Amino acid sequence: MSSKQKFVYSFGGGTAEGKGEQKALLGGKGANLAEMARLGLPVPPGFTITTEVCTWFYDHGKSYPKGLEKEVAAHLGRIERQLGRKFGDPLQPLLVSVRSGARASMPGMMDTILNLGLNDRTVEGLAKGSNNPRFAWDCYRRFVAMYGDVVLDLKPVDKRERDPFEVILEKKKHARGVKLDTELPVDALKELVREFKAEIRKRTGHSFPDDPMEQLWGAVGAVFGSWMNERAIVYRQLNAIPSDWGTAVNVQSMVFGNLGDDCGTGVAFTRDPATGEDVFYGEYLINAQGEDVVAGVRTPQKIATLKDRMPAIYRQLLEIRKTLESHYRDMQDIEFTVERGKLYMLQTRTGKRTGFAEVRIAVEMAEEKLITPEEAVLRVNPDSLNQLLRPIFDPAKKREAIEGGKFLTRGLNAGPGAASGRIVFLAGDAFEWAARGEKVLLVREETSPEDIKGMNASEGILTARGGMTSHAALVGRQMGKVCVVGCESIHVDARARTMVVKGKTFREGDWISIDGTTGEVIEGKVATMPSEVLQVLLEKTLDPRKSHVYHRYAKLMGWADAARRLKVRANADQPDQASNAVAFGGEGIGLCRTEHMFFGEGRIVAMREMILADTVEEREKALAKILPMQREDFIGIFRAMGPRPVTIRTLDPPLHEFLPHTPAEQEEVAKQSGIPVEKIARKVADLHEMNPMLGHRGCRLGIIFPEITKMQARAILEAACRVRKEKIAATPEIMIPLVGHVRELEDQTQLVRDVAEEVFRAEGIKVPYLVGTMIELPRAAVTADEIATVAEFFSFGTNDLTQTTFGLSRDDSGKFLPEYVRREILPADPFEKLDQGGVGKLMAWGVTWGRVTRPNLKVGICGEHGGEPSSVEFCHRTKLDYVSCSPFRIPIARLAAAQAALKEKAAEKAAKKKAKKPAKKAAPRRKAAKRKGARRR
Ligand code: ADP
Ligand code: MG
Ligand code: MG
Repeated sequence: MSSKQKFVYSFGGGTAEGKGEQKALLGGKGANLAEMARLGLPVPPGFTITTEVCTWFYDHGKSYPKGLEKEVAAHLGRIERQLGRKFGDPLQPLLVSVRSGARASMPGMMDTILNLGLNDRTVEGLAKGSNNPRFAWDCYRRFVAMYGDVVLDLKPVDKRERDPFEVILEKKKHARGVKLDTELPVDALKELVREFKAEIRKRTGHSFPDDPMEQLWGAVGAVFGSWMNERAIVYRQLNAIPSDWGTAVNVQSMVFGNLGDDCGTGVAFTRDPATGEDVFYGEYLINAQGEDVVAGVRTPQKIATLKDRMPAIYRQLLEIRKTLESHYRDMQDIEFTVERGKLYMLQTRTGKRTGFAEVRIAVEMAEEKLITPEEAVLRVNPDSLNQLLRPIFDPAKKREAIEGGKFLTRGLNAGPGAASGRIVFLAGDAFEWAARGEKVLLVREETSPEDIKGMNASEGILTARGGMTSHAALVGRQMGKVCVVGCESIHVDARARTMVVKGKTFREGDWISIDGTTGEVIEGKVATMPSEVLQVLLEKTLDPRKSHVYHRYAKLMGWADAARRLKVRANADQPDQASNAVAFGGEGIGLCRTEHMFFGEGRIVAMREMILADTVEEREKALAKILPMQREDFIGIFRAMGPRPVTIRTLDPPLHEFLPHTPAEQEEVAKQSGIPVEKIARKVADLHEMNPMLGHRGCRLGIIFPEITKMQARAILEAACRVRKEKIAATPEIMIPLVGHVRELEDQTQLVRDVAEEVFRAEGIKVPYLVGTMIELPRAAVTADEIATVAEFFSFGTNDLTQTTFGLSRDDSGKFLPEYVRREILPADPFEKLDQGGVGKLMAWGVTWGRVTRPNLKVGICGEHGGEPSSVEFCHRTKLDYVSCSPFRIPIARLAAAQAALKEKAAEKAAKKKAKKPAKKAAPRRKAAKRKGARRR
């Protein structure tokens, strides 16, 4: 860091040195304070110490760069001149807040210190200046406690311990015979300050710092220090925020919402963060300071009521709402304070929202022309679509429960959806129970950042206190949890692990249900039903014109479809799944597994006969029984899919999977089939494999038992011919699994082609069809050029390809893989997110070399990864033709595919722009970039 570097940026008074886009340098809070000041909004003046100082701090044994102190002093001086107050001045003291602010907002992660600059002298100045000694001493005692907690580390780490300042406060109230803090007279507040300071001396061995400068630097150090506290670290891990980003520190002159009834503080959203509705949404408290609203200490008032309480302020807020939305072009989450009838803006940021709201806001903003449809597509996290597809309570069952007296209470509907679960009271328990496979609802007085792990593990969250902007609501929404907050009639005793509602006591493990759309809390388990989107698409019980949720979903998906290049198919084994796939927008079937068809009624018997057969004739006889059933299945699937391509995989799993394993089951099968039980037991033993994943399975079955492949090819092609005769353009793609050598594929392909000739001759028509292979062994990927001489298409079976590339069995990985991820040996579970660096490289190689041999080679993916957004993006970049995933993930894949295409477009545009810019210095770099691009191609 050179000595000329700027460490501090000012804001306020209609201007700012920084800008909104400098989030990396100024943190989100600082950058937006600067931006609001530039917009001419009333922002109390202050300054931001950059994130680079934080990084420097940690790189240099927690010390500060030279020159920082001087810069801070200069900026403080600027504020002093602007406000006509002085830091530490006994008559006109300047007070400040010290606020952390990382690049990405981390709610509740780091604590703000208010009223800094107070000591025994300045408090008198504040008292005189405000003509309100009670207010001054109240600020002072809050400051000492906050400073003690945050900077001097007296805040209890353990939930069972109590905050030492709260204990003293409780005692004081008891001694004075009052209930509320606000009832304490000035002399009691003065005593509190003395007692708080004595407590600090007792616990730390040091006196409370009276010098405002010392206070300021203590607070700055604490903000930087908190970047590495455990809560912050956990949050960063959960949200994939790198630790080297660092936090900025904002020092801002104080404004007071607690000077009387013409004062207050509030938090608001420019649109409803739960539903996305275009209304001004928020809460405020009269005569209150800072965190009071967010902390859920008092349940605040709805913002709409401010219209009557403070009409001018309300009008001004509505103006600001408009200004901010049209400037940021997104929903904002704002914090404001009113001091003696004057409004101040203290924060704005892009608001967190539910998946419902995410879709609604994106679509409506595009309809309002505030953003483009492409931007709307980019704004919705594909996984958020899950919320639109998530179950709701079955209204009949819910009414029944309510009429049966099961309704308990109603809270605020902070996170929509329906959840039933067993009550737990501690976040740690929620985590443990969920790990055991229990469905849990976390019930708490209010949540705090320590609870995030447990919240993440719960089906839903229920709190007794706090509003729509409380921690539980904010974080729950972000996690997409069903969430009901501020249920005042619930009494939670976490220590006793009980919850009392309407005189009824509930204990840990009891079932309750919460409706995050209405705020209702219901005793017991309530049955759920499909969401509105599913009711329109799958159940067809809801008229699409009657569902706003569906309308917005359809609009967004339409824009996504217009933007994407990748096609999206479904993994579907049965006609009903195939219809679902079409309803969700599937453009074909990427994987139809035939083995699932063998488990149906009556079929498994024939299948077992086939496996137990000793001769080819016996086997063919059994297969002949299966043939018509398979054909019927395919007919059903082709009818459902119409002209869309259907990729059908020939038999893949090891045969022993179809046989009974326990003696009792073997006895049963013997009885049904008339085959002696000894023979069955012997065959099971024969088929036993040491390592079935790598054993006699995939195409190896069809090579040893060609009659199986022949029967399946016949069933597929006969079905296609018959459906074609119904004027449905069935388009089969026959896929041979687990090929490692091109000769294996040649063998199987020949069988299929021979059968096809026979079938077409017999049926009297021809059906276009393809024969291709799954690429799920590294050898297949590496020899893609050879394999493509035979294969007309590839489909990457990334489940097996991941297993075989890592040489690890997915079924056995549970013992160590989670630990790998926890210790960051692997960045993620490679069975969830495609391992782009390894498995992905094999894929890229396979695509490239496959197309060298056969330029029009069709390539897809059919592993679980086909519905995971980051993997879909990879498939787009790797120039696959389609991804295939479970029907319910199709919308997610469509959106992810569109985003991948739009991001690519934006990157190309940016690259072009950069290439055009005639800059002297950029020339060599541009060459380097070109070279890189060439290599990639
Ligand atoms: P968080 O990141 O947890 O939201 P903030 O830094 O925004 O923390 O501070 C929390 C609250 O403290 C703010 O919402 C605001 O009400 C209050 N606050 C912060 N700075 C000031 C200030 N300069 N004057 C008055 N209130 C302030
Ligand atoms: Mg804030
Ligand atoms: Mg496989």
